[in-house]
Amino acid sequence: MYDVVVVGAGPTGCYAARQLARLGYEVLVLEEHTEIGEPVHCTGIISMEACERFDLDPSCVEAHLSSARFVSPSGQSFRVWSDDARAVVVDRSRFDQILAEQALTSGASFLLGTRADDVQVEQDRIVVTGLCLGEALSFRSSLLIIATGADDSITERLGLAQASGPPIFGAQLFAEAGRLEEVEVHLGRTVAPGGFAWAVPANGHGCRVGLVSHAPPHPLLSEFATALEQRGAIRRNGARIRCRAVPCGPRTPSFADRVLVVGDAAGQVKATTSGGIYYGLLGAEAAVSAAHRALCDGDLSGSALADYEEDWVRRIGAEQRTGRLLRRIHRALSDRDIDMFFWLARRAGVPGLLSRLQFDWHSSGLLTVLWRELLGGLTSKSPGARPARQN
Ligand SMILES: Cc1cc2nc3c(=O)[nH]c(=O)nc-3n(C[C@H](O)[C@H](O)[C@H](O)COP(=O)(O)OP(=O)(O)OC[C@H]3O[C@@H](n4cnc5c(N)ncnc54)[C@H](O)[C@@H]3O)c2cc1C
Repeated sequence: MYDVVVVGAGPTGCYAARQLARLGYEVLVLEEHTEIGEPVHCTGIISMEACERFDLDPSCVEAHLSSARFVSPSGQSFRVWSDDARAVVVDRSRFDQILAEQALTSGASFLLGTRADDVQVEQDRIVVTGLCLGEALSFRSSLLIIATGADDSITERLGLAQASGPPIFGAQLFAEAGRLEEVEVHLGRTVAPGGFAWAVPANGHGCRVGLVSHAPPHPLLSEFATALEQRGAIRRNGARIRCRAVPCGPRTPSFADRVLVVGDAAGQVKATTSGGIYYGLLGAEAAVSAAHRALCDGDLSGSALADYEEDWVRRIGAEQRTGRLLRRIHRALSDRDIDMFFWLARRAGVPGLLSRLQFDWHSSGLLTVLWRELLGGLTSKSPGARPARQN
């Protein structure tokens, strides 16, 4: 019998496994794919703050980011920048593999090609049943950590991690970089309704082109990539589009008797961008503390594990709430409204203000900028206060 079974070998599952193994626990990680980190559906942007806090291995870093150009539906744009790099782009597959290797060398075991299908929570243990390369297996442990990302089949069966809003979808492809000089972020109902699209130049795997939206993402990304290709920014070369659901905010409850839910599975993502690596690691860190306490005390009841949710909500809850408000505002805007915002933003010097916002904790700063600089401008708009080009 293991102390902890972790289902899912993404960054949050591997990190939790590594830390618990370092604390001396017997840990088993189950991963349905036969290769850690594959397939990749993530751009791999991580802030410098996250790199430092989690002492992330720099060998998977492909590029440093210090600027981005924001583009409106009618093609107006402004640039935000900083003197130093604010974030890095990692080779996401290698990133996950490094965390898994660190967990392995810390003593955790991995079973790849193993999909966990069912979980029984018994009085004195957890029983996880699954299929390993076609063979039915079962595993026993004191505690289960669910780190299954967008796949909510286990959490749903256990009545955990309920979605807190309408679904959002993400999609990405790897293209060759053409004349793309810096990160571009495109807004508008045509390009990505309720979300945004991006193109991120990086070494190694070339350029990442992706989007998040409430609408089906595949055709939208195809169209966006074609537009980039037509202006020579990228060369798509038939690259495959990978789509998946992304959480729109916290998914609770994230604990029960002998069970903790971490990462995307618990909705530990930024509500503005859907970026989840850093918040997921913060969630996993909180899960490790709660698990360690409960295993030491020999009390793995839901009430003993409830501190976990309090802990991660205390860390990221306020940012998520403000981010969701911003997202609702953004979702209600027409392309014409967004163009107006761009026009006012440039007039009010907003790009300079945005450049100073913290990469991972930007929602309240963004809301203040919108409220003070832009809504004031919109309500006092004169016939002359119109963007030069509109849809
Ligand atoms: C298009 C796109 C771009 C993104 N870009 C960024 C970005 O630039 N920066 C950022 O911070 N975030 C980004 N994200 C979000 C980021 O990818 C996720 O937040 C992050 O991967 C969450 O990590 P996780 O460990 O919780 O889950 P995942 O990385 O999804 O890992 C879950 C693992 O569990 C496995 N699994 C699932 N079910 C089972 C099962 N029943 N049995 C066994 N194994 C199972 C899966 O195979 C997978 O390996 C992006 C997301 C998308 C869709």
